[in-house]
Amino acid sequence: MSKGAVMNTYQRFPLTIKRGEGSYIWDDNENKYLDLTMGIATCNLGHVPKIVKTAVENQLEQLWHCSNLYEIPAQQQLADLIVSHSVGDQVFFSNSGAEANEAAIKLARKYAKQTDEAKSTEIVTFKQSFHGRTVATMSATGQEKVQEGFDPLAPGFRTLTFNDRDALESLAENPPCAVMLELVQGEGGVVPAHQQWVQDLASLCQDKGILLMIDEIQTGIGRTGTLFAYEQYGIEPDVFTLAKGLGSGFPIGATVAKQHVSEYFSPGSHGSTFGGNPLAVTAAKATIEHIIEADILTYVEKVSIHFRKELEKLAARYNTIESVRGCGLLLGLAVNVEAKEIITLAREKGLLVLPAGPTVVRLLPALTISYQQIEEALSVLDEVFAEAAKKEATVK
Ligand SMILES: *Cc1c(COP(=O)(O)O)cnc(C)c1O
Repeated sequence: MSKGAVMNTYQRFPLTIKRGEGSYIWDDNENKYLDLTMGIATCNLGHVPKIVKTAVENQLEQLWHCSNLYEIPAQQQLADLIVSHSVGDQVFFSNSGAEANEAAIKLARKYAKQTDEAKSTEIVTFKQSFHGRTVATMSATGQEKVQEGFDPLAPGFRTLTFNDRDALESLAENPPCAVMLELVQGEGGVVPAHQQWVQDLASLCQDKGILLMIDEIQTGIGRTGTLFAYEQYGIEPDVFTLAKGLGSGFPIGATVAKQHVSEYFSPGSHGSTFGGNPLAVTAAKATIEHIIEADILTYVEKVSIHFRKELEKLAARYNTIESVRGCGLLLGLAVNVEAKEIITLAREKGLLVLPAGPTVVRLLPALTISYQQIEEALSVLDEVFAEAAKKEATVK
């Protein structure tokens, strides 16, 4: 199925998803699955959330697209909403995570050039990070497997070690114009940044005039239990980026910046034909409004503690699971077998989970997952790990 006229860039699971509702999806044979992938942390309110659907349907009747050369009130409203619930002051809208990071990279360079001619335009990122697949964001990404075969990389990036004290020293000795990082590395294996390290990094940035840019593309929009993950680290980023969960599945990206940075973008600096399109901003506005009005963040906090506790119990029973890690409902099981093996067994039993690197099983449930659905997931995982253990025993 993945061959043929579509370029062969994805190793696809042998499953065609036809329909989704809340935490469940159905395949083309009407088999039902409990979905703990949510389109990779994208459908945070579950599949086809009614409130977002209704908002988009209303907008569909009115106007699908108009150029950014005209006023788009819903874009203003969404920007106001993001700004009023964050430390940011202004927003640039695009269509994807990579584009949101591209805008952040361009903004940082412009800021550096215009505030001090002599300032470095270099941007520091971290090993095992993931920032996107465009030329610049791939170059920013700290994973060789993403960059392989695509030389020359974009210049102006330096990669340091995540959660590492020496990295801070290197930053102090040779300050770049910005650092960009995820607070929980998602694609890189569900690896949370250490609290103290992040706080030290943030104060170093403050002292040295380095912009602190947080990639919240996977962690944002309630995934970790707060609207943005930076809230849990007691820091204030100068810039942060959003995409995945922002539009409940409608493509949209956002680059949010404080005024002292965003003011360096002026007409002509940056742009996008589709960015902040009326349908996309309507979906995003309905998504954030609902998360706030329905107090979904309080629920995520509660339900994620429960889920994690139960996963720890599972880990205590099966040697295959080395650790449980993550934050909120961005969870990972580090395993000592191939993650793929676990994922396949789970899918065969009606549960969809994801890899995050070769040996981490990533769980990204809807923020609205019920306690009963968590029980259901745990009971499948229990069977899966029992089976995996049996397999290992026969192999050894
Ligand atoms: C998914 C992801 C991106 C890239 O987003 P796209 O929409 O695929 O371009 C960037 N950063 C992080 C942290 C991500 O998880």
